[in-house]
Amino acid sequence: MSELRWNPLLGEWTATATHRQKRTFLPPADFCPLCPTKDGGYATEVPESTYDIVAFENRFPSLSPDPPPPAVEATELYPVRPAQGVCEVVLYSPRHNTTLAREPVEQIYKLVRVWTDRFQQLGALDFVHYVFIFENKGEAVGVTLHHPHGQIYAYPFIPPIILRELAQSESHFNKTGRCLICSIIEEEEKDGRRVVACNDWMIAMIPFFARWPYEVHISPRRHLQALMDLTPREQRELAGVLKSVLVAYDRLFDLSFPYMMVLHQRPCDGGNYDYYHFHIEFYPPMRDRGKLKYLAGSETGAGMFINDTLPEEKAAELRAHLARGE
Ligand SMILES: [Zn+2]
Ligand SMILES: [Zn+2]
Ligand SMILES: [Zn+2]
Repeated sequence: MSELRWNPLLGEWTATATHRQKRTFLPPADFCPLCPTKDGGYATEVPESTYDIVAFENRFPSLSPDPPPPAVEATELYPVRPAQGVCEVVLYSPRHNTTLAREPVEQIYKLVRVWTDRFQQLGALDFVHYVFIFENKGEAVGVTLHHPHGQIYAYPFIPPIILRELAQSESHFNKTGRCLICSIIEEEEKDGRRVVACNDWMIAMIPFFARWPYEVHISPRRHLQALMDLTPREQRELAGVLKSVLVAYDRLFDLSFPYMMVLHQRPCDGGNYDYYHFHIEFYPPMRDRGKLKYLAGSETGAGMFINDTLPEEKAAELRAHLARGE
């Protein structure tokens, strides 16, 4: 039972996915469904006795390539459509107790290449208009399985946050003849206080307008729209800067730092998005040691975020933890 229901009030789709209530919830480590299948042991979702990085279809998907017809009838006010799309799980490592932050740059580089491959494969499907790669990490953001993994949703439409970024980027381009993210990178570098890490290929910063205390954005310096536009050198540099940011996060409060990590790439609907610029955003739910930021009335009901901290100070904090180095 799964369908897309139109929200005429906000102009967006909501997926119903009631079967997801039955998904595995925080199993003990010996019964992890994402570990390799041990000889003579129970069968996990990965039949192999080992793997490096694997991507496969989610067993509890909210979107599927061949969805059932909607269980409710559409009306003029309330359009309904089948929940067509693809939901994949990407396992970062066969080791249950690792995290992306603890993996070597080489493994993160492999993951960047797997992401690139999945973006291309899923983006080529005719019913897919947007490929969204993300990771939810930590119980604070509702993770139900601890094994290090990320997810990919291939949507049959362009999701609302991306539509907004596209509209803002396009109007900035029409006004100034420049890319919005290129302009942001230039402004952040000129100021310097919010830059967390940078080299000739990549820049990581907590932008001027951050909604979350430790909201880091990573962008390639070169103007490009998607992972597949990166050169092998840029893929490596992206892995390197991801590693630096993740390590600094874990050092902040000496704990495995929870976050949502999202990749913002161009849509895959055949349109021209040359004005857009690929980047990665992190939304960590922590605002201080032992303190979580909740999305309350203003954030959820009005869409206005209140950041209790200054990006200038939080960026300095992250830089100090980066410099601690090994
Ligand atoms: Zn596991
Ligand atoms: Zn750009
Ligand atoms: Zn973005």
